[in-house]
Amino acid sequence: MADMTKTLCPYCGVGCGLELAPPAVPGKPINRDAEGNPIWRVRGDRSHPSSRGQVCIKGATVAESLDKNRLLHPMMRDSLDEPFRQVSWDEALDRITSEISSTLGTYGPEGICMYGSGQFQTEDYYTAQKLLKGCLGTNNFDANSRLCMSSAVAGYIQSFGSDGPPTCYDDLENTDCAFLIGTNTADCHPIVFNRLRKHHKKNRKVKMIVVDPRRTATAEAADLHLAIRPGTDLHLLNGIAHLLMRWGYIDTVFIDECTEGFSQFADVMQQYPPELVARECGIRLDELEQAARWWGESNRVLSLWSMGINQSAEGTAKCRTIINLHLMTGNIGRPGAGPFSLTGQPNAMGGREAGGLSHILPGYRVIKNPQHRAEVEKIWQVPAGRISAKPGLAAWDMIRGLEQGTVGVMWVAATNPAVSMPDLVRTKAALKQSPFTISQDAYYPTETAKYAHVVLPAAQFGEKAGVMTNSERMVTFCPAFRKPPGEARADWEIFAEIGRRLGFSAEFDFADSAAVYAEFIRTTKGRPCDMTRLSHRRLKQEGPTQWPCPGYPTDPIVTNRQEEPKRLYTNLSFNTPNGRAQFAAFHAKGLAEAPNPDYPLVLTVGRLYEHWHTMSRTGHIAKITKKNPHPFLEIHPKDAKKCSIADDQWVEVLSKRGKARFLARVTTAISPGTIFAPMHWGELWADNAEANALTHPEVCPISLQPELKACAVRVQPVSQQPLDSELTKEPQAKVEMLHLVESR
Ligand code: SF4
Repeated sequence: MADMTKTLCPYCGVGCGLELAPPAVPGKPINRDAEGNPIWRVRGDRSHPSSRGQVCIKGATVAESLDKNRLLHPMMRDSLDEPFRQVSWDEALDRITSEISSTLGTYGPEGICMYGSGQFQTEDYYTAQKLLKGCLGTNNFDANSRLCMSSAVAGYIQSFGSDGPPTCYDDLENTDCAFLIGTNTADCHPIVFNRLRKHHKKNRKVKMIVVDPRRTATAEAADLHLAIRPGTDLHLLNGIAHLLMRWGYIDTVFIDECTEGFSQFADVMQQYPPELVARECGIRLDELEQAARWWGESNRVLSLWSMGINQSAEGTAKCRTIINLHLMTGNIGRPGAGPFSLTGQPNAMGGREAGGLSHILPGYRVIKNPQHRAEVEKIWQVPAGRISAKPGLAAWDMIRGLEQGTVGVMWVAATNPAVSMPDLVRTKAALKQSPFTISQDAYYPTETAKYAHVVLPAAQFGEKAGVMTNSERMVTFCPAFRKPPGEARADWEIFAEIGRRLGFSAEFDFADSAAVYAEFIRTTKGRPCDMTRLSHRRLKQEGPTQWPCPGYPTDPIVTNRQEEPKRLYTNLSFNTPNGRAQFAAFHAKGLAEAPNPDYPLVLTVGRLYEHWHTMSRTGHIAKITKKNPHPFLEIHPKDAKKCSIADDQWVEVLSKRGKARFLARVTTAISPGTIFAPMHWGELWADNAEANALTHPEVCPISLQPELKACAVRVQPVSQQPLDSELTKEPQAKVEMLHLVESR
């Protein structure tokens, strides 16, 4: 098709290249959705190095979501009991500026919080950091990456001295053994899985090990599926390390020359003999031995993980323990080998580069490092000492801050915490107490808008020009190819305008998003994520580029990509002060909330192939919603029998914190003692369908990531069949249910 625009899929962290064309192109009938609305044409971009033309159902249908349920104008209200009224941008921005100013006076900078999102482009992230950390003097910026990847971030920083996955997607086709733990890659990162699966199918000697309590689509493809008990990952990983040492499968030269702390680590691993580990994990001894043998015999082992590892009260320990296996076997810095965390959001990686968490700063710097703060203050041209030395509030601490009355302004942008946070009953009660909440989003209504005093319409995918980085550090320019609907504005423009209204005109004197990006790029100079060769113009000319890519935007265009470095640590020198990677040993503590007689089952939550997070986009696409019209619960036949539950029956799941209702799927694909429910449904889509009404907020003490993946529950048949109106909400009912009726 002529005039195709190249961009990046705005859904998951795989970061597939897309090509889009307008609904009407010469010589073809107008492209329309099922309801007859004209929609953009979408296909995979064959030239994108990460995806090579492949897309999953979400990417293929993304155009159908662009005009549905959009927030078109700013709206305001004085209290949550009132309906919103449409206001001008000036009125909304004046109100926000005045609330921030008065909060600075009464609460101090610590009273202001922003909760952002991996849906942001890098320019949005960067501008938000400058506003909060550089101008307002608070580090209270956190993002939904805290719920997704912060354990991986902490693991990389502690083991290697810096964040950053050292691997790339080409490793999927170069590995001898793929070790997938805590990731349903087939459903949640489908194009990564397609690349791996193709390699696996083509090469009979390549092994695939999948560790998951569920027999997922990923596990179905494995040579070995280890259905361990939830919370026993550390046992398993330590048990593999024990066997690798016992059988002599360790790389002593690499350990001696490139690492530190091995002997203390080895002492602890002695305490994980295979018999004990197999018993704790609930797997057979020979299965454990097979996994260790494949690790040991393979020249190139690639580990892949995602939320099943990260969303844990032991998340950082688990990430570091995966990395330990790579360090002891020298499986790093080579094609086909290394630890590889798969990011959830499309630009979670860009957020990490831009300092988009409450303990970090742009350019892979950390708040606690005085030199890092001084370097960023210099680039921002703000007074020395402006950036607070105190890490800001992490996501769950913001909720606690609202409960304790220490937060005066809660600014939520491009995310929906009223569905995605743990312990939703408590989360919603805290949001209700917020003195002033802004919900800045492309879509309306959302569950979070129910708790907002001001809603701001944001431009989204295809409506603003910016940059995103995917899981393999591939940076892609995403152009604006359509006008934002109504009065929607880019997130970075909104942040910059608020900054100027608060008196920081010079700091936010950006002509366009290219200027924002140019300033951000300066923060990466000499850092592990150095991308000083990049600019909007260059990315448009040269196409997607992997970092590190030091240089100048004026450097000659790279024509031979094969010569570009794809991996980190190929020289086996790490970003620690002495250049050595760090071993660390962790004993398994188990689940933060273990099953007990009142709540005897472990609920694990997760994502479905077709849906994206809280369904703000995918919930409006008929091709997607028909796949699973209702949220369901997977339960093993033995547990179903104990709970008197039949297949296809509505059941109630209860935890200490709340309850939710699901349609039972009795299946041997889940281990006895564990049940599974998808996390996508919020109160906008059905009554009592929220999996996170059940989850708890205990966090990893290092990464502060909540243990969303496991909580103790019981299951019982429902006393009353749900009504159709409770199971599927009509559009008007959604607005009324959320008390968000607009006055006209
Ligand atoms: S795999 Fe992820 S990035 Fe690729 S098309 Fe699907 S949702 Fe988009």
